[in-house]
Amino acid sequence: MTSTVRAAVEQVRRRIPRLDARLLMQHLLGITHAQFLADPDRRLAGDEIEAFMTLVLRRERGEPVAYLVGEKDFYSRSFRVTPDVLIPRPDTELIVTLALKHLKTLAWPRVLDLGTGSGAIAVSIACEHPEAAVLAVDVSPAALAVARENAARLGGKVGFVESDWFAALGDERFELIVANPPYVAARDPHLLQDGLPFEPDLALTDGADGLSCIRRIVADAPAHLVAGGLLLIEHGYDQADAVRGLLAAGPYVDVSTWPDLSGVERVTGARAAAG
Ligand code: GLN
Repeated sequence: MTSTVRAAVEQVRRRIPRLDARLLMQHLLGITHAQFLADPDRRLAGDEIEAFMTLVLRRERGEPVAYLVGEKDFYSRSFRVTPDVLIPRPDTELIVTLALKHLKTLAWPRVLDLGTGSGAIAVSIACEHPEAAVLAVDVSPAALAVARENAARLGGKVGFVESDWFAALGDERFELIVANPPYVAARDPHLLQDGLPFEPDLALTDGADGLSCIRRIVADAPAHLVAGGLLLIEHGYDQADAVRGLLAAGPYVDVSTWPDLSGVERVTGARAAAG
């Protein structure tokens, strides 16, 4: 086994993607990409090589890089992630962008993030729009601990409550409710691919047809939105029609869907009807 950072990363290129190898190496040595590039001939100690090969093996067996390095970039901030939370996806940045656009028009808005997980959505909104009073809920205490840490590290002012969707919220109302709920159907083969087996089932699947959490959110949100308040829900690539249908049947107006970076219908929303 060779002993410079560049050579070690090159050496495993047939086993894992080069980018992953570089990220694992940077994590191991506690260095940035710039430092990696500046000193490719840095020599590795025997225990560093061993630790690197262990990470490569875990990656090769399917563990997501984000869990191996303990962080993931989202909306230009680095979020801490553990296997207790879903790894934030680039597609989910869409819901933040739409949320911020809505908030721009309001003074001191109240925002609710349902099923916050790592806190990626809630903390991004709080950091980008400090005027907003952001409340984030999750049913998982372990996820809330990660989200709290992210809020503290990144300086986002977010309140956290352990709650099964709206259950612990009383009669509070919000100008904006956002949610990235578990929407993968129980039998979707996707759950067995791409590192998803390492992510919490609770965050990925409703254990049913993929729409049961969304049905619940659509049904209960009107009691927690001000008139004209906006509900934004992320959903699966083939669920936009169904989600629009659910919203159209309720006390909502202005039902719309927005595409993600890959052009897939990814977020559907509507406003609470007045009165
Ligand atoms: N977007 C995720 C995936 O398909 C699922 C996230 C979710 O269920 N909220 O990998």
